[in-house]
Amino acid sequence: MNIPMLDLKAEYALLKDEIEPAVCAALAACQYIGGPNVKAFEAEAAAYAGVKHAISCASGTDALLIALRAIGLGPGDEVITTPFTFVATVSTVLMCGAKPVFVDIDPRSFNLDLNQVEAAITPATRAIVPVHLFGQPVQLAPLKALCEKHGLRLIEDAAQSFGADYAGRKSGAYGDIGCTSFYPSKNLSAFGDGGLIITDNDALAAELRVLASHGSRVRYHHHVLGYNSRLDEIQAVILRAKLKRLDAFNNRRIAIADSYNRQLAGVVETPFADGYGHHVYHQYTILSGRRDAIQKALTDAGIACAVYYPVPLHRQEMFAATHGDVKLPVTERTAQRCLSLPISPMLQDAQVETVCDVIRNALK
Ligand SMILES: *Cc1c(COP(=O)(O)O)cnc(C)c1O
Repeated sequence: MNIPMLDLKAEYALLKDEIEPAVCAALAACQYIGGPNVKAFEAEAAAYAGVKHAISCASGTDALLIALRAIGLGPGDEVITTPFTFVATVSTVLMCGAKPVFVDIDPRSFNLDLNQVEAAITPATRAIVPVHLFGQPVQLAPLKALCEKHGLRLIEDAAQSFGADYAGRKSGAYGDIGCTSFYPSKNLSAFGDGGLIITDNDALAAELRVLASHGSRVRYHHHVLGYNSRLDEIQAVILRAKLKRLDAFNNRRIAIADSYNRQLAGVVETPFADGYGHHVYHQYTILSGRRDAIQKALTDAGIACAVYYPVPLHRQEMFAATHGDVKLPVTERTAQRCLSLPISPMLQDAQVETVCDVIRNALK
């Protein structure tokens, strides 16, 4: 038996007949950078997300870095965020010379504990960067209220939640700027790297575009330090085909999560959907005091599973000097008990049953 975390081969088989001719047409057209598919994808992604501006870039990491630069983040500034996320949420703060300030997570949603955010605000705070972890939207209204009260920017890390929604807005569209990633494992994914920055703010959009293209408004005139961060034409072709199916794919993820929830109720702690928005299950993550036994049984049965994330960011070696004393008990306990199970739009109902059988047997 072999059940992968994410079945990209099955997805490719489904999309091949549409994607291959479109990729070949783009190859023959030879407009590899700044071509018509990139422009069309930006327009389609903006329409999908319900925002005025969508700026494509080279990765989700670049999307975050460029967003933080666009709000003027620099040395001496602080950014409040979560320690239970992928490193890029925070490495990009450091790349701007600013300091990440970690707030503990909610034990059930795995997202920022909203009750602890205000106490972390100091005169140096410039922004809050919530992460919609595993595809579950953070409850953003209270964070926006804090941002308005304290003059901060709200930048959403929507790398795991593209297509989710909260308060009638698509993930990433509620804050000042939203950032997402098209890394191959994400809900909307390319066949390589890619990223997107969305905003309704005209001035920020202009600045984001300048920063993504060498800090240049007029070609060969550079008024700020920028980046070479672009989505290429081939990835844009692939993303256009997949964007059309994103809602269907996310709905299938939700159906799989419902099935896992039913079969694993009372066996492990199933993921908690807080009901403030629509969770799109980038990951389906359970909690168990016997996590390691479950992990071993699944691995022995040829079923992939993964710990996201084994080492919270404040415990990473790169932060030893600056955050060595920080204690975030909920995050630390979660990192010891969490396990993400296979989920992808292509996962079959019978495979979900097999995964649940192996878990039940492991805990007998
Ligand atoms: C994947 C991811 C990123 C980075 O995206 P890349 O495209 O890999 O650079 C940032 N934040 C989170 C939460 C992610 O999951």
